[in-house]
Amino acid sequence: IAVLGQPEHSVVTTCAYCGVGCSLKAEMKGSQVVRMMPNKNGEANEGHACVKGRFAWGYATHKDRITKPMIRAKITDPWREVSWDEALTYAASEFRRIQAKHGRDSIGGITSSRCTNEETYLVQKLVRAAFGNNNVDTCARVCHSPTGYGLKTTLGESAGTQTFASVEHADVIMVIGANPTDGHPVFASRLKRRLRQGAKLIVVDPRRIDLVDTPHVKAQYHLPLRPGTNVAIVNALAHVIVTEGLLNEAFIAERCETRAFEQWRAFVALPENAPEATADVTGVPAERVRAAARLYATGGNAAIYYGLGVTEHVQGSTTVIGIANLAMATGNVGREGVGVNPLRGQNNVQGSCDMGSFPHELPGYRHIGDATVRAEFEDAWHVTLQPEPGLRIPNMFDAALDGSFKGLYCQGEDIVQSDPNTQHVSAALSSMECIVVQDIFLNETAKYAHVFLPGSSFLEKDGTFTNAERRISRVRRVMPPLSGYADWEVTQLLSKKLGYEMDYAHPSEIMDEIARLTPTFHGVSFDLIDKLGSIQWPCNEHAPEGTPIMHVDEFVRGKGKFVITQFIASPEKVTRKYPLLLTTGRILSQYNVGAQTRRTDNVRWHDEDRLEIHPDDAAERGIKTGDWAGIESRAGQTVLRALVTERMQPGVVYTTFHFPESGANVITTDNSDWATNCPEYKVTAVQVTPVEQP
Ligand code: SF4
Repeated sequence: IAVLGQPEHSVVTTCAYCGVGCSLKAEMKGSQVVRMMPNKNGEANEGHACVKGRFAWGYATHKDRITKPMIRAKITDPWREVSWDEALTYAASEFRRIQAKHGRDSIGGITSSRCTNEETYLVQKLVRAAFGNNNVDTCARVCHSPTGYGLKTTLGESAGTQTFASVEHADVIMVIGANPTDGHPVFASRLKRRLRQGAKLIVVDPRRIDLVDTPHVKAQYHLPLRPGTNVAIVNALAHVIVTEGLLNEAFIAERCETRAFEQWRAFVALPENAPEATADVTGVPAERVRAAARLYATGGNAAIYYGLGVTEHVQGSTTVIGIANLAMATGNVGREGVGVNPLRGQNNVQGSCDMGSFPHELPGYRHIGDATVRAEFEDAWHVTLQPEPGLRIPNMFDAALDGSFKGLYCQGEDIVQSDPNTQHVSAALSSMECIVVQDIFLNETAKYAHVFLPGSSFLEKDGTFTNAERRISRVRRVMPPLSGYADWEVTQLLSKKLGYEMDYAHPSEIMDEIARLTPTFHGVSFDLIDKLGSIQWPCNEHAPEGTPIMHVDEFVRGKGKFVITQFIASPEKVTRKYPLLLTTGRILSQYNVGAQTRRTDNVRWHDEDRLEIHPDDAAERGIKTGDWAGIESRAGQTVLRALVTERMQPGVVYTTFHFPESGANVITTDNSDWATNCPEYKVTAVQVTPVEQP
């Protein structure tokens, strides 16, 4: 305001950072944003916003923005600025050349959880209709794909069960593998408010996160488990519930499959699942596990909130299933104050999954192998779709190294910095013949690209985002795209160059098509969102104004399904050479790979990633806070400044991955979830040694 003067008008839009999806008011003078204010009428945020949404939007006009398309024949050549027409013609001709030489399935696309639903829908449509295959995946692959699998298997829908407001009716809150204070700050405030009103808290996390003992909030039980033992602790909790007679037998009899329940009950009752038997593995005293299980099962309305500390493991899907089992066993599904609530990381990661970004699923999680479903899309899109699922992101990398995958269209996703085992990713990308990156900055992935298409920030386009509670909210354009085109227009132009015509005049027309083709979206339109403020899907003839709470009278799949969750230890083991376990996460002021927040004043709070280490482990190595520490794993090595803290338990170290120079993902491994290939970012055996300043 000091520079630009008082705002003259405002535009309501949605934050482009985390999965809380706060409604914001961009206060404008002419076409310039003066400040970003939380919208008092926003259902997800009730007039609040955090330091990212409120202050970290200046990246949209940062000098690093690339606004002209560029091409180069080889990645060692300098970039050459070209017209949009030349760039798109080149990209399309390269993709067609590669397919002619290496086959239809030799190219694919990656959608972005930072982009709108409409843009994501168009990328998967381009891959399926113009590329002619199903090689499309999304960055949810590396975060919440196990949520989709686990919740669909047990409850019947790949999404969380509640609204954020539901927490206000919870008597017991169990937070597993999530740090809402840093990752979902506005929701964390709501949760803490409920705790101050008397709700009880159980935290299951290797670190002593802020929630465990912030002022006025203290967890009744903190279960500081060893990284990689989530399934063992969930089974131990279930064992106590089953063997101490704490099941909600009436709910189970009425709402769940009997045979599957009986099998699960017999399994969790086995002595090997008792807290006393698993304490050596999890590191959590048995009595504390028993007490937490009793509180969860008998304390009234009990809600589970979980994050990437659950999903990013070799047994990520198993833990999600185990959490759903706990909720069904205690009858904590289908009403206010309970449920299974994934805290999704990115602003539109729920939406990117909903929009058919998976190689096996069309929009609305409908399997590509289903001929009836395929026929609906074939009629609407006037193409023949392939019935076989395509490649997931890690399969694309493997196929590239095998020589069978040669071209990639990557929209708004920095796979080099965000995917695990950077060396493997880099080698795969180096072996491809044409990589098209569409982004607002020349990110790490662009170093391997042959075509760069300038992207547009959330301030430059219309569309919708879907947050962690299935809430679809409007994104509204407040300034014209710096490059001349919004991302959805670029995809449309590329498709046309590939010979598959798309002709949408506005993103609302794309949403209309999504609604026609997706049963859970049948009632959704921009007009209805504008009228209601936001809509939680399913929104259709059964729920014309959306669905705040799911599975109320029956589960989406009919009867809830208990599934046995056998604990299998991660292949990543500590040894004499690698005696510590590294786990990774986020901090409040920065966001994921930091492409946006690093280019804002938020760096005044954090301008580097740090290695958190317990005082005993630090003393053993002669490391003090501020010293440089070398971290070596089986995959690679890097250097970080140390932060000695009792937040960590002995034997476990922690870092974030917001700054490319810290190279956190140089050391993470290729291990991934058995069902979805979600990488195991949370368990890497490492050695830490003091080093000189790099
Ligand atoms: Fe944006 Fe999330 Fe912060 Fe809300 S809590 S302002 S959605 S980053």
